[in-house]
Amino acid sequence: MQYERFEFQQPEWGEVNVLRVGDTLVDTGHVAPVSRDAVREAVEDGPLAGVERVLHTHPHIDHVGGSQTVDALAELPHLVPAGAVDLLYGYTDYLRRAREEMTRLLAGFGATDSQWDRYFPIESYAEERIEVTRELTDGDTVELGGESLTVVSTPGHADPHLAFHHEPSGTLFSGDLVDPSGRFQYGPLLGDVGAYVESLRRVRALDPDVLVPMHGPAMDDPDARIERALADVERTVDRLLTHRADGPFLVREFVVEELGIDDFRVGYVTLTMYEYLRYLERRGECTVRVADDGIHVE
Ligand SMILES: [Zn+2]
Repeated sequence: MQYERFEFQQPEWGEVNVLRVGDTLVDTGHVAPVSRDAVREAVEDGPLAGVERVLHTHPHIDHVGGSQTVDALAELPHLVPAGAVDLLYGYTDYLRRAREEMTRLLAGFGATDSQWDRYFPIESYAEERIEVTRELTDGDTVELGGESLTVVSTPGHADPHLAFHHEPSGTLFSGDLVDPSGRFQYGPLLGDVGAYVESLRRVRALDPDVLVPMHGPAMDDPDARIERALADVERTVDRLLTHRADGPFLVREFVVEELGIDDFRVGYVTLTMYEYLRYLERRGECTVRVADDGIHVE
């Protein structure tokens, strides 16, 4: 399966891919100027020139940025996950809610507004001007670069989230489901660890030969990657439940003392652990309480 991969810088957290498959762009980079200016340039007079439509894997800020900020992209026909349209058309509101949620969860951290300003810049976006022509659901077929691919609903990292399967070549465009780190990746308001596990199992059953993720290069060992991701969930759940068995705790302290993380990653890992704990709470294994001094597990 032919495709071209282009990496664009995002604020704070490395790069994000934009793929070109024939005349279609898969995702459009981060909203922030560092990414969107480069995307705009590539569309106007570079390797992305001549694209005729856009396909979204999921509505996270580093995947729909060009659609929200580059007029030439906003006006192209968009194929987006069903369930993403309201979010895309109210993106400023989504970013505001995302910032509020992260501020609430990181109470007691001293996280500053400026961090959110950099990663979740709120200004005027294309929003309603994005030309959505088709909403995709599980089992649909999309034509990409002259090939037929099957849409695979894969929520967890985000809901909605889609992967695209080209069975003849064993290629799975896997969005952000299988991260190169092998770990569940937090994103505000749209994550669900239980759904993530189900989606990993579902993708494993498709038995792909190559995963094309939206961060980093293609992975030619899908089985090992998926097993590693599933094992990481199991290990993380075990650690949280073992710790809970010793009594109530504060998530921030678990991250520092149990996971040994005390640098700039503390906030992000705390948010990730919060998603795990919500999953465990739904299973009836603990109670999570967000307070002014942090997230308590009881
Ligand atoms: Zn994402």
